[in-house]
Amino acid sequence: MHKLTLKELSAQLQARKISATELATLFLDRIAASDLNAFLHVDRDLTLAQAKAADVRLAGNDAGALTGVPIAHKDIFVTRDWRTTAGSRMLQNYVSPFDAAVVEQFNAAGTVTLGKLNCDEFAMGSSNENSFYGAVRNPWDKTAIPGGSSGGSAAAVAARLAPAATATDTGGSIRQPASLCGVTGIKPTYGSVSRYGMIAFASSLDQGGPIAKTAEDCGLLLNAMTGFDERDSTSLQRPKEDFTRSLNQSLQGLRIGVPKEFFGAGLAADVEAAVRGALAEFEKLGATLVDISLPKTELSIPVYYVIAPAEASSNLSRFDGVRYGHRAADYKDLADMYKKSRAEGFGDEVKRRILVGSYVLSHGYYDAYYLQAQKIRRLIAEDFQRALAGADRLCDVIMGPVSPTVAWDLGDKTDDPVANYLADIFTLSTSLAGLPGMSIPCGFGQGEKNGKRPVGLQIIGNYFDEARLLNVAHQFQQATDWHLREPA
Ligand code: GLN
Repeated sequence: MHKLTLKELSAQLQARKISATELATLFLDRIAASDLNAFLHVDRDLTLAQAKAADVRLAGNDAGALTGVPIAHKDIFVTRDWRTTAGSRMLQNYVSPFDAAVVEQFNAAGTVTLGKLNCDEFAMGSSNENSFYGAVRNPWDKTAIPGGSSGGSAAAVAARLAPAATATDTGGSIRQPASLCGVTGIKPTYGSVSRYGMIAFASSLDQGGPIAKTAEDCGLLLNAMTGFDERDSTSLQRPKEDFTRSLNQSLQGLRIGVPKEFFGAGLAADVEAAVRGALAEFEKLGATLVDISLPKTELSIPVYYVIAPAEASSNLSRFDGVRYGHRAADYKDLADMYKKSRAEGFGDEVKRRILVGSYVLSHGYYDAYYLQAQKIRRLIAEDFQRALAGADRLCDVIMGPVSPTVAWDLGDKTDDPVANYLADIFTLSTSLAGLPGMSIPCGFGQGEKNGKRPVGLQIIGNYFDEARLLNVAHQFQQATDWHLREPA
């Protein structure tokens, strides 16, 4: 049962072959037996109460596609019943008085929450090692990182501890862990998923999305989690759409842009081989490959690592031991209390970003760094528009690697923040442009250590082209079985 897709589980529930309670129990038992550190808070009673309510709905024929389906939430989405820590000591015992919009939407659809998933502190990181609660292990090879910041989400789905999970992507945090754990994830167009109750890292970049086994499942989840929300000032006012509507379209004539900047010297040979193998598969499905250029790709790293910390330094000012968060036990006066509370509550990477962010926003440096970064951000978005938009566009979608290497060993880059930042090279530009992007499993790296290490293919589309991305991914998943492979 735990091997089934969400779509299949839904059919089992509707046909009353299994109850929501049985299904939740099965996954709770798998979670309890797992040693991956993927979950930060599990509460059997809460989960089973939701399952019972779902069973009532299923019995009364008031069930939708997701009623009774178990999912887990990244611990960056606030939940009224489960603790919400954002992977930080700062929020160690925090219980939110309300549910995030995404959680509300899933609750309304009748999904059953399995618990809260580990992540890098305030979603800052690429390896999940910045979590105050310890790193998550990659289920394919427990000596490897799962990727980050949504490492718990990707590892839980890969290890079949949950059929699907929510995640967030600010600069790659859905796509990169999905890639490194061999599962499917999509970050939709910025503004599609409400940020209400999603603990803010960099507000102009943060975007929620799903991680699941298949593109089809991701479509079902997006159907539930997207939509206008007046409580989020950048939420897009668009009609509801069915993201699964184009899944079965043929790829005959599809033009795939292959950016030369995504295949340069920094790309590991085994990742390149798997990605090229996937591109060849798409040619068999009727697509043609077009060489394109996204010349500003390299600049996405400095631009992102100015803008994201700048926004983070402002967003994180609320965690001061008064309005929110951990308060130091001993202090002399108010200023001392702020200093000690923040010094104790935040980890090193978060402090580094607050320092960098405050610096680039300060008088005399604002023009040189922050303003400059904003200008280049625009140029990065224009690179994509030249390729993807207008009558003379070069291609319909863009493909390339998600990560320059397979998952690295736990501990390998913990003392080297810049090495972590460089690993984000292929995901940051999509986020800076606000475009949708996804990762699907397309092979494994060479050189097995204590297990295989998966490779993901990135698919990027123009604004609001999620249905097409899912179509392209679904057709690939009909022709291949990488997405069905499971860790030992
Ligand atoms: N790795 C990037 C960072 O550390 C992206 C994180 C994210 O998307 N939340 O900021």
